Amino acid sequence: DVAEIPGIPDWLPAHLQDAGIAELYPPQAEAVEAGVTTGENLVASVPTASGKTLVAELAMLSRVAEDGKALYIVPLRALASEKSEEFEQFEQYGVDVGVSTGNYQSDGEWLADSDVIVATSEKVDSLVRNDAPWLDDLSCVVTDEVHLVDDGQRGPTLEVTMAKLRQLNPDLQTVALSATIGNADELADWLDAELVDSNWRPIELQKGVHFGQALHLEDGSQQRLEVRNSEDETAAIVRDTLADDGSTLVFVNSRRNAEAAARRLTQTTSEFLDSEERQRLQDVADEIREVSDTETSDDLADAVEQGAAFHHAGCASQHRALVEEAFRDRLLKVVSATPTLAAGVNTPSRRVVVRDWRRYDGTVGGMQPLSVLEVHQMMGRAGRPGLDPYGEAVLIANSHDELDELFERYVWADPEPVRSKLAAEPALRTHLLATVASGFASSREGLLEFLERTLHASQNADRSELERVTDRMLDYLEVNDFLQRDGDQLQATGLGHTVSRLYLDPMSAAEIIDGLRDWERGGTTTRSSRQEDDAVGFTTASELAANEESDADRGPPGALGLYHLVARTPDMYELYLRSGDEEEYTQLAYEREDELLGRTPHEREERFDDWLSALKTARLLEDWASEVDESEITDRYGVGPGDIRGKVDTAQWLLGAAESLASELGLDCVPAIREARTRVEHGVSAELVDLAGVRNVGRKRARRLYDAGIRTRADLREADKSVVLGALRGREKTAETVLENAGRQDPSMDGVEPAEIDGVDAG
Ligand code: ADP
Repeated sequence: DVAEIPGIPDWLPAHLQDAGIAELYPPQAEAVEAGVTTGENLVASVPTASGKTLVAELAMLSRVAEDGKALYIVPLRALASEKSEEFEQFEQYGVDVGVSTGNYQSDGEWLADSDVIVATSEKVDSLVRNDAPWLDDLSCVVTDEVHLVDDGQRGPTLEVTMAKLRQLNPDLQTVALSATIGNADELADWLDAELVDSNWRPIELQKGVHFGQALHLEDGSQQRLEVRNSEDETAAIVRDTLADDGSTLVFVNSRRNAEAAARRLTQTTSEFLDSEERQRLQDVADEIREVSDTETSDDLADAVEQGAAFHHAGCASQHRALVEEAFRDRLLKVVSATPTLAAGVNTPSRRVVVRDWRRYDGTVGGMQPLSVLEVHQMMGRAGRPGLDPYGEAVLIANSHDELDELFERYVWADPEPVRSKLAAEPALRTHLLATVASGFASSREGLLEFLERTLHASQNADRSELERVTDRMLDYLEVNDFLQRDGDQLQATGLGHTVSRLYLDPMSAAEIIDGLRDWERGGTTTRSSRQEDDAVGFTTASELAANEESDADRGPPGALGLYHLVARTPDMYELYLRSGDEEEYTQLAYEREDELLGRTPHEREERFDDWLSALKTARLLEDWASEVDESEITDRYGVGPGDIRGKVDTAQWLLGAAESLASELGLDCVPAIREARTRVEHGVSAELVDLAGVRNVGRKRARRLYDAGIRTRADLREADKSVVLGALRGREKTAETVLENAGRQDPSMDGVEPAEIDGVDAG
């Protein structure tokens, strides 16, 4: 009974009862018995949708009731806002909720007043590096989806961050929430925590595989499920579920496939809508269109009108929220989603279809099978407590062999054990520097001692691998002038501190510094004489001589060169080369070689391909910063609008970092970098940067204002209103907002007639 939980605030039992939670689920009760509300550390490994969030809330609210402060770590930015909105239900009782997303380089000072803070592990890592003072006041940290410590890219960050938080405050209560995994006990060992390891779920789940004309379920039964000629298996399953008045969640392997599947499934769902549902879906679609007027938004609204929707990390969070709500209200009959968000979609449904069990993996190349853990998490979304007798979750097989394979691989399989991925070069390169720079260790021994607090150490009795990689990375950091060694003592250099605070991979920083210095030294002569993996930070006598001889004062580097420089760092995700790209970009590499920073590798060198993909990214950024239409860019590079946004954000961050590094090193190219950055930020040519920086102007309006003779923010303050109105196509409200944002005293457009403007299309 919720009224009997020790330690929680007085108002909580009544609040929970109002929310329909009268009794704890068994794993929740176990967590309370283990002391989660009285400050004990806890690892809870329980199936999806079995109420992990409430366990976290019980812990956090109990600490807040004692005047403490709690941090909730999420794996994805998209989940940060979802979780904080969920916690805002407690604001009525005086619990302040803060969410920290956005820029890495800040100490989130304003969060000092929040009681509950939600952030991604990267953000928390960055807050630690930037010395956020309130971190010392934390009394409770919750890690959501802690099994992701297994992720090669992001796991080490989570692991190291947890170790740091626990070192900052030895009394910190640690609560880690995990999907069901085989070795939760190892996580509990690592965190000195009590363990709740449960298979209980609020509703029974039957897993299975669809093959031929039947669903084969794990209890050995079969259900006939006919696939018509006009439809694929997924549509057949959706139809069959709808015939029984149930909804379906479909997992596919990419955003594009999620959108395509939703579009196709509207043919199935639209048959089942009555006129009232159509009307209500229409309303939801209108709301979706109001959120933004992008193509994604339109596509989503079109599908929603017909009873289907897609859901992926590229959707606006308001879109995702609207979709989830309509799905829970049973208005939407099917949602197709990407696995990334499987953990986050709080949308139980009668059936789950895992349509794609392979996904493109850029690090290995080619399609790779999903992990058992991921597939089980998706499947766990099947069955709505209180509404369905049980949930069904199925994969789809195209042959008898595949039917057997899928049963072996996923239906009967146990999830993989979670293993630390810390002992890898990229991870240690970054984290060793940050650990020294932020004062958690000041010697090799101190570092190794700090690493004892990680999952890696608790899982591996043998430290030799960790030590070996550590030594190699310390050498790397020293050679690149990020760390200084004095006997056994380690100290971060000024540059090293900057790199750590900027949240750069040291290798990215080295690449950027190398490229910028090389440019300033004058280019090709030195470039061709240099070794492949030349370390940064050393200028040899012969290079100095070459420098003096080189006549090339080429002026500052241009935008393409700078975009290429940041695009080839390990901090930028690469665009893949499609067939035909290799030839196209090889040619481009030679045509524009003079603009690129550093020596262009030979075609037979291994890094040539990376060089080309970076060039593809660089030209995308250049197009964007030259006002090429968004839709033309998506066509040209085979990407979605969300991908452009992603590249632009990353480039902006990396160029900002490059700017800091260049000024730290006293290089001349700072203004050139700033220009490249502001251009990419606003997606405009240099002449428009000032105008596009005015809120609500944007790249297209900036161009129209400019063409109408308004060249700067200052012009905008003085400009003839009718000209402004004409350039903004007669939109009074927009014109007023824009003038106000430009700092105009009297922005009112009352009685102003739009001027006819030459050369500005009026459409
Ligand atoms: P998880 O985080 O484990 O995937 P959630 O915390 O999202 O699962 O819980 C799934 C659903 O179960 C939520 O809608 C939540 O409100 C509900 N729920 C959680 N605990 C209880 C409970 N004790 N009684 C009834 N409903 C509960």
